[in-house]
Amino acid sequence: MSLVTCKLCRKLYNGDGKICPECRQHLKELYPSVRDYLRDNPNLEFNVETVAEALDVDIRYVQELVSQGYLDRDLPDGMSPEVLSDRQKLAKAFEESLDKMKADAAVARKPVSYGQEVYGDKSKRR
Ligand SMILES: [Zn+2]
Repeated sequence: MSLVTCKLCRKLYNGDGKICPECRQHLKELYPSVRDYLRDNPNLEFNVETVAEALDVDIRYVQELVSQGYLDRDLPDGMSPEVLSDRQKLAKAFEESLDKMKADAAVARKPVSYGQEVYGDKSKRR
């Protein structure tokens, strides 16, 4: 447990993840409305702005539902949210690979200890 900033409401909260419990609850409540809205408006070109405006919610919550994959499976045939969700998946993958690169770099930069210099890195190999 640590103090983190909620990525949706920017509030500090004590916990794990990137979204505070309040926002998680909000997303849970919002999801059926968005799903129903999309179902009732099958001809609507899906985009988060339209949905957020129609439901009078913060666009970030709709975006979060999309990026969590909530809406993908519920979209009626013929709708193509791929552009949006792909972009967000891409951004997420990019973020993750960046984190990994940072982690790898941190490992590589670790100073070699005396023991490792003498005995080589055999013990470190997995
Ligand atoms: Zn929040």
